[in-house]
Amino acid sequence: MSDFSDTVILVTGGTRGIGRACVEAFAQKGGTVAFCGRSQETAETVAAEIAEATGATVKGYQADISNDTEVDALVKAVTEDLGAPTILVNNAGITKDGLLMRMKNDAWDDVMQTNLNSAFYTCRAVSRGMMKARYGRIINLSSIVGVHGQAGQANYAASKAGLIGFSKSLAQEFASRNITVNVITPGYITTDMTAELNEDALNEFVKQIPAKRAGSPDEIASATVFLASQEAAYITGHVLAVDGGLGM
Ligand code: NDP
Repeated sequence: MSDFSDTVILVTGGTRGIGRACVEAFAQKGGTVAFCGRSQETAETVAAEIAEATGATVKGYQADISNDTEVDALVKAVTEDLGAPTILVNNAGITKDGLLMRMKNDAWDDVMQTNLNSAFYTCRAVSRGMMKARYGRIINLSSIVGVHGQAGQANYAASKAGLIGFSKSLAQEFASRNITVNVITPGYITTDMTAELNEDALNEFVKQIPAKRAGSPDEIASATVFLASQEAAYITGHVLAVDGGLGM
C-alpha cells in the first residue's frame, strides 16, 4: 500500500484510543502527522513518544475542536509548521449518555458540538488547501450507533448519523477535485470510551458480535489508512463498517 511521505495528516483527538492508533499508523508509513487534544502537555508528550518510536515528524497541538475559532487556529498553525494537511481524520468524539426524558440541553449541545459541528469546522478549514492541491482524503469516524440507534444515546446517535449525511454531501461537492470523503462506523472497540461501561453488560454485548470479541483501535486505524491511500482513490461517499459483523 502507498506510503505517506511528503503528506501532512491531521487527526483530531490523537492523544489516546482510536485517534492515537491512527497517528501511529500514519507515522509508521512515513507521514508527517499533526493531531490535537484538549491539553497541550498531553499532546506534546504523546507526540514525542510516537515520533521517537517511528522516526516520523509528529506534532501535538492543544485545540478544542468544538470551538470554530480554535479549529481555524489549529489548521493555520499546522499549515505554517508542517504544510497544508491533505488528509484529515475527524476522530475526536464524546458521549454524554442518558434517557431522553432526563437529558439536559447541555448533554445534547456538547455532544453535537464536539462530534458533528467540529467536522463542519475542520472540513471547512482544510478544504481550501485540498482544493488547491487537487488532492485530499477526509475520513470521518461515525459509529454503528449512528446507523442503528441506541437507547440512552439519542444525542450521540444523532451526531454520528449527522456525520454520514454530511460526509456524503461533501463527497459529492469534492469528487471532481480528487478529494474523497468517507465514513467509518466502528462497532465496539476497546478504548477509554468503552472502559466506562459495566463489565457484565460488555460481556453480554460481545456475545452479540459475530466475531465474538471487541475490536482494537489498530483495526480502525488500518481501515482509516486504507481509505486515505492511493489504492482507495475511487472510493468516496462510502460508509465502511468495522465492527466484527455486529451491524449486519
Ligand atoms: P476516547 O474517549 O478513547 O478518545 C477520545 C479522543 O478525543 C481523545 O484523544 C480526546 O483527547 C479527544 N477529544 C475529545 N473531545 C475533544 C475536544 N473537544 N477537542 C479535542 N479533542 C477532543 O475515544 P475513542 O478512541 O473510543 O473514540 C474515537 C472516535 O471513535 C469517537 O468519535 C467515537 O465516537 C468513535 N467510536 C468509538 C467506538 C468505541 O467503541 N470506542 C465505537 C464507535 C465509534 P483529550 O482527552 O486528550 O482532549
